[in-house]
Amino acid sequence: MNATVRGACPHDCPDTCALITTVENGVAIRVQGNPAHRHTDGALCTKVSRYTERSYHPERLLQPLKRVGPKGSGHFEPVSWDTALDDIAARLTAIAARDPQAIQPYSYAGTMGLVQGEGMAARFFHRLGAAHLERTICASAGAEGLMNTLGGKVGMKVEHFAEAKLIVIWGSNPIASNLHFWRLAQQAKRDGARLVCIDPRRSETAEKCHEHLALRPGTDAALALGLMHELIQHDWLDHDYIARHTEGWEGLRERALQWPPERAAAVCGVPVQQISALAHAYGTTKPAAIRLNYGMQRVRGGGNAVRAVACLPALVGAWRHRAGGLLLSASGHFPVQRAALHRPDLLGQRTPRTINMVTIGNDLLREASPDFGPRIEALIVYNSNPVAVAPESGKVVQGFAREDLFTVVLEHFQTDTADYADYILPATTQLEHWDIHASYGHTDVLLNRPAIAPLGQARTNTDIFRALAARMGFDDPCFSEDDLSLCRTAFGDTVSFDQLMDQGYATLDLPDAPFAHGGFPTASGRCTFFSARLAAQGQDGLPDHLPNFEVAGSSPQYPLAMISPPARNFLNSTFVNVQSLRDMEGEPLLEIHADDAEARGIQSGHMVRIFNDRGEYRCKAKVSSRARPGVVNGLGVWWRKLGPFGTNVNELTSQRLTDMGNGPVFYDCLVEVAGLPESV
Ligand code: SF4
Repeated sequence: MNATVRGACPHDCPDTCALITTVENGVAIRVQGNPAHRHTDGALCTKVSRYTERSYHPERLLQPLKRVGPKGSGHFEPVSWDTALDDIAARLTAIAARDPQAIQPYSYAGTMGLVQGEGMAARFFHRLGAAHLERTICASAGAEGLMNTLGGKVGMKVEHFAEAKLIVIWGSNPIASNLHFWRLAQQAKRDGARLVCIDPRRSETAEKCHEHLALRPGTDAALALGLMHELIQHDWLDHDYIARHTEGWEGLRERALQWPPERAAAVCGVPVQQISALAHAYGTTKPAAIRLNYGMQRVRGGGNAVRAVACLPALVGAWRHRAGGLLLSASGHFPVQRAALHRPDLLGQRTPRTINMVTIGNDLLREASPDFGPRIEALIVYNSNPVAVAPESGKVVQGFAREDLFTVVLEHFQTDTADYADYILPATTQLEHWDIHASYGHTDVLLNRPAIAPLGQARTNTDIFRALAARMGFDDPCFSEDDLSLCRTAFGDTVSFDQLMDQGYATLDLPDAPFAHGGFPTASGRCTFFSARLAAQGQDGLPDHLPNFEVAGSSPQYPLAMISPPARNFLNSTFVNVQSLRDMEGEPLLEIHADDAEARGIQSGHMVRIFNDRGEYRCKAKVSSRARPGVVNGLGVWWRKLGPFGTNVNELTSQRLTDMGNGPVFYDCLVEVAGLPESV
């Protein structure tokens, strides 16, 4: 019997595609894009087109596993669900009796689904009184930057980029990570738009744009201030928009006038003419749109950089047109009913400590103290692979290897993190469960129906947390809510659930040009060049350039800056174990500019050692014009055990935090590179 089932892509990608899965006799044989959903337009990326290969992968976890070897050895034996859940519940109950804050959830966007993400998990951990997790590993600096400028994660509707006449693609490689936006940019280009890419790397996108500004990592705010300087000097400003819909103009003007393009060019490492030409284009082309992405905010000054860029559209009045303005994230437009879904009321009067997921390496190694609280005794990991993706992985591995740490991992595969588990619990994939999705790249809600029955003994995340709750005596009615009901709870009455059931998606009712007449979701309704909120926190109220912790060229010992953008066929650490995608990527690579390679006697194909005080990583070098002089690109995020020396690029990254949002600084990292003998 054949059927087609409507779903949603669960991955951490702004496109949130609508899926159609073809099922034959209970087996999913094909996953395609839904042609009826305008943002998907019938097309998926290469990664998810192969979703059946991933779901039916021969190494898929299909039964609970219990560790039998030393921590990290990866040796497990099958156990029954009852054995696993009884033991886990008993261990957690014993720890909770001492102090539930010693139990640490660890999760991120392995699924973006609101139900299989935190839907039931948050209820469980709130009821337990476990430590909170600050979920910062990707986007929190930019989110705070937007919050302090526009008032939230809001911006242009993505579909209107197709009508723009200038598109600035800033800190983004949409061909690899925002494919459906790239189609819109291509449409605009065919209609005469100019495309400008700002990225330290000459990415697949950069080489297809009219212009590429290959700035040094962490200098985006300097570039934005240099552009402002030129907008002011040439009076390419919309004075009426500034007067009516912004606050803090005089201060910003004074700040920007300190940034003549020559100064910005020296900091950014780009020709001054490129800055002047971009300012001219931005100041005189209407409508002009900026597609900002999160790469540029993974540095010390990431929040300030987003603030500086987010001020630009208001200066030129770009928001007046629906095809003008800026989009970093649309997620703030979605009326997600988080309290109903996550039930923070289950905490009662308790206020558990919060651990930042970026510093898990340090925190797992911390002893109990009055400041810190109890030592972390148990870690429950779901929808995340921290051993591969968290910074300074030498410390992360050391922490996960603690024999006294009780670790449970809910997973599809035996990842680097699962290798360190005491129990691995097999979880369902998107083809096997209900879920509901917001998006950060468009403004539609999507419903995901299960297309097939769970494979083997896999269980949904929600079901696993329900089962643990039952064993731990949590009998609150909310633990009986089923997944379809949780899907309804996620948006309550704000979105038509009938429409979601009928067509699989529903479009939010939003104005086309949301800030044409101001109305920003800030306290004043204005775009806040000066943020009183930041000033009240003791920070600079105006955006500024904050140099990296590790400034390119500042260290004779480590003269190269390293960024670690995603490999095109992986999505963070997901898909690395899908053979056909790994075959396309080949092997872990370090892109290095010819000048830097020559100075070190390195040629393409040479095995190299990349190192700093935090660690060492070995992979093959690729001498490539994708790298600018002084900056190397370590493509990520490979599973450690699938790379040649059992490590990955995060051996080198640091656990320092951004200026706002407590985010990671993956791209604020100095290294040296040396060739290795042939025999290594
Ligand atoms: S990863 Fe992105 S582009 Fe690929 S199917 Fe999912 S949402 Fe679409």
